[in-house]
Amino acid sequence: MSIRTNIEHINKLKNEAAERSGRSGDDVLLVAVTKLHDSDEINEAIACGITDIGENKVQEILNKYDKVEPVRWHLIGHLQTNKVKYIIDKVAMIHSVDSLHLAKEIDKRAAQHGVTMDILIQVNSAEEESKFGITVDETEQMIHDILDNCPNVRIRGLMCIAPYEDDPEDAKVYFEEVKKQFDQFADIEHPNLDFKYLSMGMTNDFEVAIEAGSNLIRVGTAIFGNRDYSRKMGE
Ligand SMILES: *Cc1c(COP(=O)(O)O)cnc(C)c1O
Repeated sequence: MSIRTNIEHINKLKNEAAERSGRSGDDVLLVAVTKLHDSDEINEAIACGITDIGENKVQEILNKYDKVEPVRWHLIGHLQTNKVKYIIDKVAMIHSVDSLHLAKEIDKRAAQHGVTMDILIQVNSAEEESKFGITVDETEQMIHDILDNCPNVRIRGLMCIAPYEDDPEDAKVYFEEVKKQFDQFADIEHPNLDFKYLSMGMTNDFEVAIEAGSNLIRVGTAIFGNRDYSRKMGE
């Protein structure tokens, strides 16, 4: 299967899932996750209409940045505070904010560059030990802390990685819980809070995530095939 065929297939499934949840497929943004894939593959995806790409490592963004056609970059993986400075002028949105400490560093670097950085708060609704993110109950406090302390950060929504389930339907409850939390902030008016993105759903579970209300899916394997973890894209 080619990258083009894969993207067309995902767009079709995305449209169908959106319609099942009473929305249009255009309301759901497909972010192509390009970790461990090279700039040629990424540029091919861009030629097929991809407008947004996601990377989980700062170093991979830096290695590929100049070789990739203009596109919106998303940092979707865990971000160490000491690396914020390298990507602050490169990414459109950081999906993985899970501490005030990190938000403050993003705020500081954004101020230095004269930008406002869009972020999502990562919620670990299944409370898996192995995953980053705050609990659903901590979300409200985190949002208030960031609004009180980070004038150069704009909170655009929430992000969640559900546990891997053989039957993705089993992950739906975790998505629904985050959607419920998302809706509580959707109508709040604040210059630094503009809830628009609910980033949920990967190759295994994006249809279920859309049914639960996701409007941004992060899909890698279904577009580019299996990742080769022996490949060194960013040490
Ligand atoms: C790798 C990754 C994805 C994409 O995973 P696939 O299963 O390949 O679609 C999505 N989100 C995050 C945070 C990732 O690290």
